[in-house]
Amino acid sequence: MSDPSIYIIGSGPASISCAQALIGDGYPVVILDAGLELEAEKQKAVAALLASPQWDEAALAPLKAGAHATVNGIPVRKKLFGSDYPYREVLEHLSIHVDQVATQAAELAPYYPAVFEFVPLAAARDDLLEMFPLHSDTYQPLTPSWQAKQLLQHLNKHRAQLREKGFTYGASRLAVQAQPREEQKGCIYCGLCMYGCPHHAIYSAAQTLGHMVQKKQVRYVKNVVVDCVEEAGETVRIHAHDRLSGAPHTFAATRVFLGCGVIPTAKILLKSLQQPSATLTMRDSLYFLLPLVGWHGASSSSRVHLHTLAQVFIEIMDQALGNYPVHCQLYTYNELYVQAMKDVLGKAYPFLKYPAHLLLDRLMVLQGYLHSDLSETAEISLQGETLAVQRKENPVAAQTVRKVVKKLYRNAFSLGFVPLAPLLKIAHPGHGAHCGGTFPMRLNPGNLETDIYGRPAGLRRVHVVDASVLPSIPSTTIALNIMANAYRIGKEWHHAV
Ligand SMILES: Cc1cc2nc3c(=O)[nH]c(=O)nc-3n(C[C@H](O)[C@H](O)[C@H](O)COP(=O)(O)OP(=O)(O)OC[C@H]3O[C@@H](n4cnc5c(N)ncnc54)[C@H](O)[C@@H]3O)c2cc1C
Ligand code: SF4
Repeated sequence: MSDPSIYIIGSGPASISCAQALIGDGYPVVILDAGLELEAEKQKAVAALLASPQWDEAALAPLKAGAHATVNGIPVRKKLFGSDYPYREVLEHLSIHVDQVATQAAELAPYYPAVFEFVPLAAARDDLLEMFPLHSDTYQPLTPSWQAKQLLQHLNKHRAQLREKGFTYGASRLAVQAQPREEQKGCIYCGLCMYGCPHHAIYSAAQTLGHMVQKKQVRYVKNVVVDCVEEAGETVRIHAHDRLSGAPHTFAATRVFLGCGVIPTAKILLKSLQQPSATLTMRDSLYFLLPLVGWHGASSSSRVHLHTLAQVFIEIMDQALGNYPVHCQLYTYNELYVQAMKDVLGKAYPFLKYPAHLLLDRLMVLQGYLHSDLSETAEISLQGETLAVQRKENPVAAQTVRKVVKKLYRNAFSLGFVPLAPLLKIAHPGHGAHCGGTFPMRLNPGNLETDIYGRPAGLRRVHVVDASVLPSIPSTTIALNIMANAYRIGKEWHHAV
């Protein structure tokens, strides 16, 4: 079983999941990562917060610095703790929507529970189970905010009408440790989620990496930026440079697992495959943001002691909106809404403060996502050392979003909220961070495609494990699918001939 030179590139969710599978089978693993860390000032602020029983605004200021909400959106920064690339919400979805690679659905099933061995799941047993099995015995529910409780009660009252119209709803599925477990404290409902969780209740790949390093299961080499890989016989040479000094490095591996995220992986592969003039198509799950006003108000006293992640998921299945569900996640009160409101009202804010706060009591934000077949794409090409990304419009995308808004509007009574349609924002490809498909897995891969072990045509010992290999992008949050697929590749790679 021992192979001294298996290298994983990247330490985000995909790489970490692949590493778990490899070390579970006894392989020694080296992880190379471009690796950015939490700045010293923020590290100090987090340590001070954890040591203090009282969290005042001055203590919280370094955490909140730079997070500014405007009418264009709430910054979903999620960057302060652990990896720069934590993921938050998880949903199993690929089993419903893996087009083109029919074999994948069944093959992925055993790997979701494997991922939940190291990722916490906050969920509830509700109607969403029909579409999204939990795959975990250790899930725990998070307490919804007061506004979300009101909303769920309203939805339950109108459940029959809503189901008839294609709406399925329930508590959000989140990668959050709801209750204390082993050394983890669990969520304390401090409402700081958008700045990063100081209690590490929100899962980040860095937590698992930390455990693996501590147990000496992997060797972690940070500040290494990989430029390309090159196969020579039984060896893969990894060409890299030091992120800080720029000094070149070369590593020799017998096998490489590449999980740098869609854009960096595209750059590395275009160089490695020596196809500098090739153009890749990046598939995206179109993202839109829609403020809502709820029928039920929440007093300002209910704006404390809550989490500020998505509270409720609503899936809309309607043939008029295509063959895939539209995924909607609803966020209730968040202090950044106050900033957004000030931004909208400008100098009038002090005069309109009272009605503004009445609105705030009812305000929610819906983040919606479409399946990639209904979304825009982007073309990626290498121009010298720079990767050029060009948006490709798809008129169906915006039309579908408008139909979704109309449908929400028509069902406002049963849903318990009315959309503020003039404030709808539709993002460009990549903005929602749910993208991939640049090197799609195929049973018989052609140029710029991968086999079911993530190997790009032309490379035998290099496996891509991130979203680059997903043939399509589901409307739901994708990180769990990426992790399950990366785990599968880490477990099954030796079947590849
Ligand atoms: C702000 C934000 C919010 C998100 N929220 C959610 C959510 O709620 N739910 C959800 O499911 N998904 C969410 N996503 C998407 C999710 O984070 C990604 O799908 C997931 O992180 C992809 O994992 P990955 O391991 O493939 O890539 P990444 O997480 O991007 O990790 C890539 C790793 O590779 C390293 N790397 C990159 N280039 C190089 C290089 N050249 N050499 C060496 N190392 C390199 C990086 O340092 C990093 O460690 C969000 C993304 C963002 C940005
Ligand atoms: S409310 Fe958010 S930031 Fe606070 S402990 Fe819970 S998950 Fe972490």
